[in-house]
Amino acid sequence: MTTILSQLSLLKSHSYIDGKWVEATSGKTFAITNPANGEHIIDVADLGAEETTLAVEAAEKAQKEWQGRTAKERATLLRRWNQLILDNQDDLAKLMTLEQGKPFAEAKGEVAYGASFIDWFADEARRLNGDVIPTFAKDKRVLTIKQPIGVVAAITPWNFPIAMITRKAGPALAAGCAIVIKPSDETPLCALALAELAHQAGIPAGVLNVVVGTDAKAIGGVLTGHPTVRKLSFTGSTPVGKLLLSQCAQTVKRTSMELGGNAPFIVFDDADLDAAVEGAIASKYRNAGQTCVCANRILVQEGVYDAFAEKLAKRVVTFKTGDGFADGVTIGPLINAAAISKVEQLVSDSVAKGAKALVGGSKASTAGAQFFEPTILTGVTEDMDIFSNEIFGPVAPLFKFKTEEEAVAMANNTPFGLASYFYSQNIARIWRVSEALEYGMVGINEGIISSEVAPFGGVKESGSGREGSQYGIDEYVEIKYLCMGGL
Ligand code: ADP
Repeated sequence: MTTILSQLSLLKSHSYIDGKWVEATSGKTFAITNPANGEHIIDVADLGAEETTLAVEAAEKAQKEWQGRTAKERATLLRRWNQLILDNQDDLAKLMTLEQGKPFAEAKGEVAYGASFIDWFADEARRLNGDVIPTFAKDKRVLTIKQPIGVVAAITPWNFPIAMITRKAGPALAAGCAIVIKPSDETPLCALALAELAHQAGIPAGVLNVVVGTDAKAIGGVLTGHPTVRKLSFTGSTPVGKLLLSQCAQTVKRTSMELGGNAPFIVFDDADLDAAVEGAIASKYRNAGQTCVCANRILVQEGVYDAFAEKLAKRVVTFKTGDGFADGVTIGPLINAAAISKVEQLVSDSVAKGAKALVGGSKASTAGAQFFEPTILTGVTEDMDIFSNEIFGPVAPLFKFKTEEEAVAMANNTPFGLASYFYSQNIARIWRVSEALEYGMVGINEGIISSEVAPFGGVKESGSGREGSQYGIDEYVEIKYLCMGGL
């Protein structure tokens, strides 16, 4: 590991506020460790409320100048940042595999995916058109302009340490907002590396700030309480999202919430089973199952249940679990010990209630303390805890259903509504089921749906707002109505 570290020019241990690298005023630091082997990577400055307030003030000052630039000027700097991210793809991916654990090839994929949001919103900056609306009175004219909402706060999780930041920073900066980012304290190194590249790109001091610390409550308290912050964009768990929403209510901030999911993946008996198996693998086991759009409940129609399980098992037994830097590894570690025990609990509850582990079923102890075997459970039923909990691990529970109506009812039987997937070759069914699923996103004969061109987001308790696409920038602008009278 020392060799990898010595190659990383983007490795930073201080936070980035107002264009400078800053320590904690308390002098405190905390350790970042590698989830694959528990090894210490680096100590990072542990900032709190005081420095977060400074970051918000710096953002407020910088935003005034930033929003006054032309869209083209902002777009040019964003493009430079995008290019630097791509130029440093390997270094960023190494940092990601080190601190987060995902296989190196996947980490490289995330860097490219993350950069795509900067590229996309650089273009969108120049399309923030207002309207001239047909008037309601002869002597008046009715217009709208779009203006940046103001200072934005972003609180992001560890499972996509780069993409969850660029999805927010891209549109915020494009719209003319300044941003204060609090990354997860599990994965701050990618966030700090992104800040270094923004600095190199020439993004002005104060426009993008990264505050790293372990006291999420204190940092979050400032970001949700400070009246200067006009918008919070959060990606994380539903309980924390609800808490932050209630905190933001006090100053009536705009919010975007990308919260938990409980994605159904439905395989109908008219599906192309081989395609369904490939889709399930891509959707379920990516990032060792640690994504909010991972297939969480695989619902299979009774006529194809056994055949599907068998085909899936044939593929899953070929997976290689281990350190993300090792050749051929497809399943890395889970993020921490709590994640492992949650997955263990869900699997043991299912097995105690009658499910069978067709593949895997326990910790992959030979790989290390934080690895779980890629697992398939059969005979899983709605009364098991796994039906209603986000697994966030490489475990595929297979539920059996008889009719389309039953499958849709099972799929919708959750307070969540982020991603959903189904496989069918019947066009009438494809329309019916697409319309009936209470989800923000539906993959039809497709297991990977995320892209910067498409609107990502959930309904029900999975959140509000959309990231990416032509809609993503709307979250960062206010529409101002101008009524010109006396004409
Ligand atoms: P996950 O289970 O993915 O870690 P969390 O919702 O716990 O999801 O964390 C997502 C982000 O929210 C992280 O950056 C975390 O530090 C932050 N966070 C957790 N609790 C709070 C809080 N009370 N206030 C502000 N941020 C928080």
